[in-house]
Amino acid sequence: MTVAHDSPSRLLRIAQHSRCRDCGNRISWHATHGHQPVSLHPVEIPAALVPAGHRWHLASGIAHPAGDGSPWCYLAHLPLCPVRTTLGALPPALGDIRRRLALNTRRLTEAGILTPGHNTGTEPHPEESCTPARPVVQLLYGRYIAATAIEDIQCVAQTMRRTRCTNPVLAPGTAPGRWTLTAATPHRRSTQQLALPASDIAVYDLGHLAYSEQVRWRTQRCPTHAATTAAPDLALADWEPFDPLLHHKYLATRLPRAPRRRS
Ligand SMILES: [Zn+2]
Ligand SMILES: [Zn+2]
Repeated sequence: MTVAHDSPSRLLRIAQHSRCRDCGNRISWHATHGHQPVSLHPVEIPAALVPAGHRWHLASGIAHPAGDGSPWCYLAHLPLCPVRTTLGALPPALGDIRRRLALNTRRLTEAGILTPGHNTGTEPHPEESCTPARPVVQLLYGRYIAATAIEDIQCVAQTMRRTRCTNPVLAPGTAPGRWTLTAATPHRRSTQQLALPASDIAVYDLGHLAYSEQVRWRTQRCPTHAATTAAPDLALADWEPFDPLLHHKYLATRLPRAPRRRS
């Protein structure tokens, strides 16, 4: 469980981020009150577009199958999943989302990342998440620990509508980092005898990117908002300086598996 301590409550991050086993799209698993965990579409939707029966909200880390009166709500992934449902009964706004998810599924299938025909229809378990919940990222000659999975790091800029930009920092068309296994404490003097993990850890390395791209990651902005100073930050960037002792429980000693590749 991770909470972005310096973010507005709306940005609480308590989810287990994963991908739908059937369609390959991003989902976030949340506890519910006395029921099975639910997989939610990880982006909030204007509640006005969503019929009351489809609305979910999060309160104290628990997902509730109703709106909370705010202008934003969540949707369950299941009714949107392009592999498991048909467009049929969906209201138009949800149909649009489902169409986008279906396009993404086709893209993943064509790229060989998702193999159709191997879908069991069973719910993936949160523990199957491929990437560390809080990845260690190398950028601008330093190491930071992210608050969420790489693909969920969200632009902090305020949009014209005074809401937080929903674009990911790892935007389509931008160069990704590289996962590498490397020493947990590259600069540690050998005289220090701290009880640190002996093995290498998985680090998402952005060090090979252009300086401006590394600054964009550090300031946590999408390409559009990195190019302008007009948009103020609506949230603080979530990076914390990486400390191998403090963040010990987040360290992964294996490289993340390729997402959703099935054989
Ligand atoms: Zn799905
Ligand atoms: Zn943005």
